[in-house]
Amino acid sequence: MKQRKSKEQITRALTHIQLKETNGGKLAVLDEVASVYLPLCQQYVTLFCIDEQPDMFRVPCFDTPLSERWQRVAIQQAAGIAQSWRTNREHAYQSYLQEHRAYHERQAAGTLHRATKEPQWQEWSVPVLRQMCIQANANVALLEVAEDSTFDYWLKMSTLQKRQPIRVPVKLAAYHTEQLTDPKTGKRKALNSSVTLNKREGAWWLTLSYDEVVAVQTPPDAPVIGIDVGIANFLTTDDGKHYGTFHGKLRARHKRDRAKRRRKAKLRACLKKKGVKKLPSTSSRTGQRLRRHVKQSINRAVNECFTDKEHAGVQFAYEQLSIATMKFKARAQNAYLRASNLAHIPQQIAWNAAKRGRRATRVPSAYSSQQCSVCGYTDKKNRPSQQTFCCQVCGYETHADVNAAKNLAARVGDSELYACQDKHAIKALLMERHEAWTQHQGKQDIGPTKCQGIASVSST
Ligand SMILES: [Zn+2]
Repeated sequence: MKQRKSKEQITRALTHIQLKETNGGKLAVLDEVASVYLPLCQQYVTLFCIDEQPDMFRVPCFDTPLSERWQRVAIQQAAGIAQSWRTNREHAYQSYLQEHRAYHERQAAGTLHRATKEPQWQEWSVPVLRQMCIQANANVALLEVAEDSTFDYWLKMSTLQKRQPIRVPVKLAAYHTEQLTDPKTGKRKALNSSVTLNKREGAWWLTLSYDEVVAVQTPPDAPVIGIDVGIANFLTTDDGKHYGTFHGKLRARHKRDRAKRRRKAKLRACLKKKGVKKLPSTSSRTGQRLRRHVKQSINRAVNECFTDKEHAGVQFAYEQLSIATMKFKARAQNAYLRASNLAHIPQQIAWNAAKRGRRATRVPSAYSSQQCSVCGYTDKKNRPSQQTFCCQVCGYETHADVNAAKNLAARVGDSELYACQDKHAIKALLMERHEAWTQHQGKQDIGPTKCQGIASVSST
């Protein structure tokens, strides 16, 4: 069984701190560093994605005007990027292999639908660093408290010139200062030594961070609310409430973006035919903006769920999403974009719980959408449509996401379920429990009941 935590350590960020010039030329020096940093970091990303395993401590191997300390920073950042790329690719590849195996099993058994195509693997391309981002440590960028000054800190950064560091003043906003001040002692919390530098629209931005330990306030026996995660409704709780959606505004935006990209591609093709050398760029800012919007909507939805008055004092159960479930839930076009957004929801739930000291438990999600939350009967046929759940045995009918959320809530502390090694073991356990339920019902006749139409649920 999973251990119940009583404390969480979280890292909080201070964002949107703009680096401003006091006496000209300092930021130009930073630009100079950045102009060689990004290509170097890209070289190591490519190396770690294709030829070598990511290694934060790899010996520098590319020519660069950067000092060895700066090279170490680039290698460390590249190793992190390559590692998460490799992990995501591996998950996707494993899920492709599963699909491929299932396809051939069905083919051999003669149960394959004629229109079903054999799953194909498309190799992932190596990540391309487009945005200037430097994850620096104290070896190259040291934060010093500015005494007797109108600024809060000096950021002392080494440059391309040996022993000629620049000192850029850092001024915090009032809300940053408040966030950093311990309410009990009135003292400033210690900042972490790593800083992040981003260049956006011609300006340099700094992100600082600090660690905080938050005690979990919710008692372990508090009532459990299950949260199901999806596209149509970002969050659905088992008390029948919905929070946020990809449909509506976000989907309209998504469509506009796609149309724009298509027009651009057409234009490029046309210009290329005419022999124009300098083609308009293919990278789209709008795509990034849409992703940011979706993330913001998700954050808002999670926030609403946690601050809902009716959820005061409860603990939450949410699903551990696998690539397979994400795909299942985001079957429609552009599944990748949607799946990557889906993965953001559980992360956001965990983060919200941690910072508020609320108890939230991640539970296995296998079959939570096909399992009847009343009798336990588990079957694909229990889902006549995307929205509806209707049990083929006991006739229980409700919104599909509400039923799934109920199952998730019931899985908290279910040690038998946690002990299952794979999906098949989970299904066997659920059906075993369904058998027990049937026997418990005794000799009452509980023949299949027909579903009466879509159950209505309140929405928020
Ligand atoms: Zn049932």
